[in-house]
Amino acid sequence: MNMMSATECLLQMSDEHFELEDYQSGVPRWCTGCGDNAILAAVQRLCRDEGLRPEKTVFVSGIGCSSRFPHYMKTYGFHGIHGRALPVAEGVKMARPDLTVFVNTGDGDCCSIGAAHWIHAIRYNMNITVFLHDNQIYGLTKKQASPTSPIGTKSNTTPRGSYLEALNPLTVTLGVQNVSFVAQAVDWIPELLFDIVKAAYHHKGLSFVRIIQRCPEWLPKSLDPWLHDPQKVQLLNHENGLQLSAGLSRVYKNQLQHDPSDINRAREIASGHDTIPVGILYRNPAVPCYEDLRHSDKLRTPDLTRAGLNAELDKYTVWPQGAEQKVAQSDGARRYRMHTARN
Ligand code: SF4
Ligand code: MG
Repeated sequence: MNMMSATECLLQMSDEHFELEDYQSGVPRWCTGCGDNAILAAVQRLCRDEGLRPEKTVFVSGIGCSSRFPHYMKTYGFHGIHGRALPVAEGVKMARPDLTVFVNTGDGDCCSIGAAHWIHAIRYNMNITVFLHDNQIYGLTKKQASPTSPIGTKSNTTPRGSYLEALNPLTVTLGVQNVSFVAQAVDWIPELLFDIVKAAYHHKGLSFVRIIQRCPEWLPKSLDPWLHDPQKVQLLNHENGLQLSAGLSRVYKNQLQHDPSDINRAREIASGHDTIPVGILYRNPAVPCYEDLRHSDKLRTPDLTRAGLNAELDKYTVWPQGAEQKVAQSDGARRYRMHTARN
């Protein structure tokens, strides 16, 4: 029997045990009171509790305040370009399905310049956890109206107040084919924020979590009605969703039993205006992930990969005059190389 030495045993234990410091990197440069800090704390706790190996974890972001997120995680990270966090993350997941991939994107990043990527990422349903940090404003560029800014928001681009109703990221996401997980959290209820982040991580498929976050710098009072009146926050609970602690139930009495498998009810709840629903709106683990559809074991064998590469190269081969008759079209350049080597 292969007995492990005490030293080996200790080494293995320390290897599998993680502390918060194993994921913390740098000092966040977000403003005091910014909701991004709460999201970072919840995600670092998730990584620690789940024992996510830093070298197997990737955070991808676009541009904006929230997109500084990868800088503060001691994991792999990619601070991308505006609106392109999702396609970058999908590329990472496609090439390395063994990695745990998270996306941090803002309301401007995801719902404006990145909107096309957002829709198609939902449809592709790759196994990625997406956090939409929705502060309802462009923060990094100093206060321009974003697609989720409430109507009437005064900003540098809308000095008389914004004219349009805000886009609702939940109803948009719930309307896309192949949607498989949609939840909403708020930064000021950390217990629930963590539970939702955890449920999103455990879902196989694209988990879309809209996190309503405070921006005390540019919209200091805009969320006060919900912050100061717990009745205006509606907690969703269900045996198939989140179970609420006694402490939360004491403060937040406005609760709704909602089965997350019911997409029509999820759309109704997401469409409400007065209260902010918090919890899991929709979950369907049966939707297939794109990387699984594409990456069967058969497709990944070295021989088949080589054959595929040869077939691709064949498309660009310039044949010497008359040579094309000497090779079968199906085998292309490889056969041609063998043929020319023999002659
Ligand atoms: Fe946070 Fe707003 Fe400051 Fe950006 S500007 S770091 S969103 S508080
Ligand atoms: Mg924003």
